[in-house]
Amino acid sequence: MGMLDGKVAVVTGAGRGIGRSEALMLAEQGAKVVVNDLGGARDGTGADTSVAQVVVDEIKAAGGEAVANGDDVSEFEGAGGAIRTAIDTFGKLDIVVNNAGITRDKMVFNLTVEDWDAVIKVHLRHTFCMTHHACVHWREQAKASPTGTTYGRIINTSSSAGLAGNVGQSSYGAAKAAIAGFTTIVAMEMAKYGVTVNCVVPAARTRMTMTAGAPPPPAEGFDVLDPANVAPLVCWFASDDSMWVNGQVLRLMGGSLAHYRPWSLSPAQSKGDRWKPEEIGMGVRKIFGVFPGGLPV
Ligand code: NAD
Repeated sequence: MGMLDGKVAVVTGAGRGIGRSEALMLAEQGAKVVVNDLGGARDGTGADTSVAQVVVDEIKAAGGEAVANGDDVSEFEGAGGAIRTAIDTFGKLDIVVNNAGITRDKMVFNLTVEDWDAVIKVHLRHTFCMTHHACVHWREQAKASPTGTTYGRIINTSSSAGLAGNVGQSSYGAAKAAIAGFTTIVAMEMAKYGVTVNCVVPAARTRMTMTAGAPPPPAEGFDVLDPANVAPLVCWFASDDSMWVNGQVLRLMGGSLAHYRPWSLSPAQSKGDRWKPEEIGMGVRKIFGVFPGGLPV
């Protein structure tokens, strides 16, 4: 008995890296999986449909059920195709894991508008397109149900590069932080239909991080950068047990599980009237605890 027996999942970018591990573990837990991957290069160029098929073959060899889909999920129609593949092949849709991604790391002064658009499109537009098609389907199902609800789980993929910042990744980080914000809002919109929307933050040795200096696997013992490490969190978010968690961002890095708390307000400096520009500096110093004589001791 797996925790996802009878469920149907779509995982985008599941031909390699983190998405591949997520697809394998979802299948191991009993889900039937649409393995989506365009099979492009790390910067998003090119395509190779065999990439998704290899993972489907692995799932089937382990006794699971899966089908390949080679659509470009950053296109509205491509995302619709990935969702339709689940419904046409397995008869329903329960889980959508938005994982596909590319990088074009450059300092902002070297970043071209083409680089910017490509990265934002694959991460943010893909997440919107998949979410839109899935939510249209689930809302129709919920409306046709006597309870007014259905089963739906969206698991998005953010990054510390966006939530904490990382030099050379302004486009990637902006997209990843936006995905966290998008998660919060769609979670509010879909809660009444029984659909939850959450977000994972992984950290792994994949082709995406190899060039950024990810260390090689240890000779023995637990590999904290194994791309499979985040898959248990994705399985749990996909399961019945996670119903009470919605709109949240959780990081699973190696064996360390933590909550990325949303932007939060500090205690306010209040005046009860409009501030003068020359007063703002003192207000900001009070908020940061920095006074004219230097940092407080
Ligand atoms: P990866 O390059 O190994 O895998 C990404 C996969 O997405 C590739 O197989 C690629 O072909 C596919 N893909 C790209 N564009 C696509 C498109 N338009 N349609 C369909 N498939 C497409 O990278 P990874 O490290 O496994 O990254 C997976 C996700 O995890 C990404 O969203 C990434 O931003 C995120 N992430 C990774 C790390 C890390 O440490 N590796 C950290 C934080 C977040």
